[in-house]
Amino acid sequence: MKIACIGAGPAGLYFAILMKLRDAQNEVTLFERNPSGTTHGWGVVFWDDLVADLRANDPDTAKAILDRSFCWTDQVVAVKGGKPAHGGGTGYGICRRALLDILRRRAAELGVTIRYECEITCPTQLPEADVIVAADGVGSYLRRLHEEEFETRIEPGRNKYVWLATPRVFEAFTFGLVPTRAGWIWFHAYGYSRTMSTFIVECSPQTWKGLGLDTLDAERSLRLLESLFEDQLEGHRIVSHGSTDERLPWLNFRNLTNGRWHFGNVVLLGDAAHTTHFSIGSGTRLAMQDAIALANSLHENQNVQAALAAYESERQLAMLRPQREARLSAAWFENIPRYAALDGPQLFALLLDRRSRLVSHLPPRLYYALYKAKRIPLVRVLYRRAAMALEQLSGLQRKLLHP
Ligand SMILES: Cc1cc2nc3c(=O)[nH]c(=O)nc-3n(C[C@H](O)[C@H](O)[C@H](O)COP(=O)(O)OP(=O)(O)OC[C@H]3O[C@@H](n4cnc5c(N)ncnc54)[C@H](O)[C@@H]3O)c2cc1C
Repeated sequence: MKIACIGAGPAGLYFAILMKLRDAQNEVTLFERNPSGTTHGWGVVFWDDLVADLRANDPDTAKAILDRSFCWTDQVVAVKGGKPAHGGGTGYGICRRALLDILRRRAAELGVTIRYECEITCPTQLPEADVIVAADGVGSYLRRLHEEEFETRIEPGRNKYVWLATPRVFEAFTFGLVPTRAGWIWFHAYGYSRTMSTFIVECSPQTWKGLGLDTLDAERSLRLLESLFEDQLEGHRIVSHGSTDERLPWLNFRNLTNGRWHFGNVVLLGDAAHTTHFSIGSGTRLAMQDAIALANSLHENQNVQAALAAYESERQLAMLRPQREARLSAAWFENIPRYAALDGPQLFALLLDRRSRLVSHLPPRLYYALYKAKRIPLVRVLYRRAAMALEQLSGLQRKLLHP
């Protein structure tokens, strides 16, 4: 089978590896606009569920990824001036560049052709292929070309965020919140190597403007953020990829869904097909799980159209839960002022439960009382029923709004 794939991110590279592992005769060519070894972002988190999938599909890649990963333990919420609250848990972090490097080497070893510095801006650039995979991220060129056919919907998030890093190694997954004269600002941080941590800063657009982050250059913005988060940074700097006189790359998260994932012989993979808010740390895992499903489906079905249809229905179903949880998690962070007056343990409990629809529907202190009472079996049953009823109502509302 001949495959042309746009994008050598985690989705495109892992898909190419699996296609070669399923059948060494498959011809896979990847087109990547960036030079080899460059990428956006810093470290990403993942958990044992991805490790299990990687081990089942390519133990060599799984081992290489685990060898380069950092294991963080515990989750911490620290509100400036308060006592940090701890919530347990463990997971992994890996540098995005290291992950791509592992995947790139493995793909090359298996005979995948990767054309770096080759941006696809017109379909005629692509060779004849049985399948064309759009693994070119949230701004996917091929998807935009057929937006109507894919039934693309993009809803921008309200908050501003910027993906930064720091040499302060956060051994625990840490959320740090700071009240300012312009409103709350907070970070999500976790170690991804022995020397670096991801440091994502988020705030409302009002706070962003109120603090001048919309106009300050990168250097001054970084120094301002360092002073706001000085308690947690312990004297370490915050760093950005770009040059210091430009502005920091603040964005609004794009919530993306597609009613259809294939059109003709073009199929969407990873962020080109769907996004999930970064606060649930799942986009890379979901992109790699898409790759597994598409490789399996193409391997098992002789007919390409049948393979693409089977892949689409399997993955659309699998995405329902993470997309719902991601929307709720993003909304929780958009409503931080509602929760920020809680004490450490209360705030932590509601942060942990942010994927439940009940959190936003009950007064925060009442929700906390319910959270504590969930130890009682009857309360647990009532809680689940109420959450399910709210879920159904909201599903109905979405269907009415977007028939
Ligand atoms: C702030 C932030 C934090 C995140 N943290 C996590 C986390 O902790 N854990 C996690 O699992 N996920 C996380 N994610 C999500 C994760 O980064 C994405 O879901 C993941 O990168 C998707 O992989 P992909 O291969 O589909 O797309 P991408 O990684 O975006 O790769 C697409 C590739 O296509 C290339 N490309 C684009 N257009 C063209 C073109 N026209 N021609 C040629 N090449 C092209 C791009 O250069 C890129 O290399 C985070 C996202 C954000 C924004």
